Amino acid sequence: MAPGLPSSPQTTLRRGIMFVISSPSGAGKSALSRLLLQDDPEIRLSVSVTTRPRRPSEVHGVHYHFIDVPTFHQMRERGDLLEWAEVHGNFYATPRQLVEQALGEGRDVLFDIDVQGTLQLYERMREDVVSVFILPPSIAELQSRLKRRAEDSDDVILRRLRTAETEIARWQDYDFVLVNDDLERCFHELKQVLVAERIKRQQLTDVPQDEARNLVKDAERLKRHRQPHLPALTEALLKDLRAVLS
Ligand code: ADP
Ligand code: 5GP
Repeated sequence: MAPGLPSSPQTTLRRGIMFVISSPSGAGKSALSRLLLQDDPEIRLSVSVTTRPRRPSEVHGVHYHFIDVPTFHQMRERGDLLEWAEVHGNFYATPRQLVEQALGEGRDVLFDIDVQGTLQLYERMREDVVSVFILPPSIAELQSRLKRRAEDSDDVILRRLRTAETEIARWQDYDFVLVNDDLERCFHELKQVLVAERIKRQQLTDVPQDEARNLVKDAERLKRHRQPHLPALTEALLKDLRAVLS
């Protein structure tokens, strides 16, 4: 557990939080999601369906449900999908049933989805959504992480960098923005956001009032509009990205 933060506070029943994490490919949202799921027994992952090929390290049903294109269209036409998007030339979508059940039971759900999906969730259930955008510290580091992950070919990496331009440009659509330079620190901040949002939605019985107020205040500084350096940082990232792609 991240130091100093309650992981599973005693609560009265509330509706679950839709905890959405988005980032350009390679910024670290899978690593952060993995840490959060290991650390926090109160949140479960919404396992998406995708038509993209499985990476060597991925397990069907754990990281994604890997499906073919006709199955994707069938699911969409049946109304089985909460949101869907075409990303990097493949279809990705959130199956509806598990999410609706978990939220109704007061369980938080983690979504690793792109900005198109996030906007669809806003349209349907804005009150339930807490969204976090992860930025890389620099484009050079983003490139080197994509290469180091070594699970995608060079042309797939190039395509992901091209998409990163439109993704980074949408950082203002998110409630919170974190810069993932140091993974441990960024994870701690992610936990701070989740804990604060839980506190805001429920009557905690095991966190003293003043401690709860401080936890909420600490997380507020990570809100997008509380970080005046972000416009300059994102502009610099976009400029460097355009230089790399030109
Ligand atoms: P995404 O899910 O956003 O595409 P990943 O979580 O797969 O990105 O991260 C891409 C690569 O960068 C992985 O090899 C991951 O372990 C590594 N990584 C993530 N965060 C950091 C960090 N803060 N410092 C160094 N490497 C990182
Ligand atoms: P990857 O291929 O690297 O696993 O994911 C590519 C992109 O698709 C990432 O931005 C990821 O967040 C997004 N993604 C994964 N699952 C979903 C989903 O169910 N819906 C949407 N809209 N995007 C998704």
